Amino acid sequence: MPYTANDNRYNEMVYNRCGRSGIKLPAISLGMWHNYGGQDVLENARAITRAAFDAGITHFDLANNYGPPYGSAEESFGHIMKKDFAPYRDELLISSKAGYDMWPGPYGDWGSKKYLVASLDQSLRRMGLEYVDIFYHHRPDPNTPLEETMAALDLIVRQGKALYVGLSNYREAEAREATAILKRLGTPCLIHQASYSILDRWIEGGLQGAMREEGVGIIGFVPLAQGVLTNKYLNGIPADSRAAGHSRFLNKDSIPESKLAIVRQLNDLAASRGQSLAQMALAWVLREQGGIESALIGASKVSQIEENVRALDNLTFTDEELRLIDRISAGDGAKA
Ligand code: NDP
Repeated sequence: MPYTANDNRYNEMVYNRCGRSGIKLPAISLGMWHNYGGQDVLENARAITRAAFDAGITHFDLANNYGPPYGSAEESFGHIMKKDFAPYRDELLISSKAGYDMWPGPYGDWGSKKYLVASLDQSLRRMGLEYVDIFYHHRPDPNTPLEETMAALDLIVRQGKALYVGLSNYREAEAREATAILKRLGTPCLIHQASYSILDRWIEGGLQGAMREEGVGIIGFVPLAQGVLTNKYLNGIPADSRAAGHSRFLNKDSIPESKLAIVRQLNDLAASRGQSLAQMALAWVLREQGGIESALIGASKVSQIEENVRALDNLTFTDEELRLIDRISAGDGAKA
């Protein structure tokens, strides 16, 4: 069936300005790390992408090595782009990244200009795009001079292969240095992509304030702790869940009883707010008191997109609720 986007797609989504820039990010963005690989069902990925755009999610996030196999998520997305989204290219903010292991030999990893420029050329071919909206350096490289990596980002923008650049997984000091170099080069850093959730708050230790000062937006990835911050694992590990699959990053051992005890208490609190736990976890990331611009989710089903965007119905937390979430997530819930 040919795809026609929902006419009402811009009615309910919230759009937040990304740092000091002209770009607005949807409060909820969709990442393609999982469920878009060569081993996944393409028609499911396609349905998820359609549901996301229909709900006003205009930002899709990829990386060179998303799959498996590496590159296959970009290929799947390229297919979906061609089939469904070609007429909507100018309504979309599409990102890709390089920085992790991608191809064999000395030029397929980390942060050299050689790697970044070649990798983006490959990504553009896989996705069938002329340019990406945002190109990220995926992780800091301790051995390549930061000037070289930032010069590569600047070059890529000047070549017209990306409109904006971003950093991912950079700690505060290196992020400050990188943004200063980019500013000097005349290609300001648009965005920092960092992990952030009720269970993972490292950015609050300085990075968040630093990026605010520099005018750089923050998008928080893995806001649902890969599904742990939903009601999915409360009664065991469902067969169709990520933890039951072959993920290197989420399995039975990463969800011990001690973590489930926290999740259960958060689930009760969410219910008292009239939200599912997934919705409360996303609302917390985006909360009015010092949240961030966008929560970068993943989804394995259309119904998850539909549930998750409803988080925007209530982004308000009382101070008491926030304190309670702090105490529960610190494992101190019994005294809450
Ligand atoms: P999330 O924390 O949002 O986890 C998403 C997973 O949780 C889904 O695939 C699904 O898993 C489950 N889920 C989602 N919604 C619900 C729901 N309502 N009810 C029950 N289960 C639900 O994020 P991801 O781990 O997927 O990461 C999101 C994106 O962040 C990536 O695609 C990528 O773009 C980015 N990222 C960036 C990194 C970086 O280094 N820059 C690193 C990691 C991610 P299930 O299969 O169990 O249904």
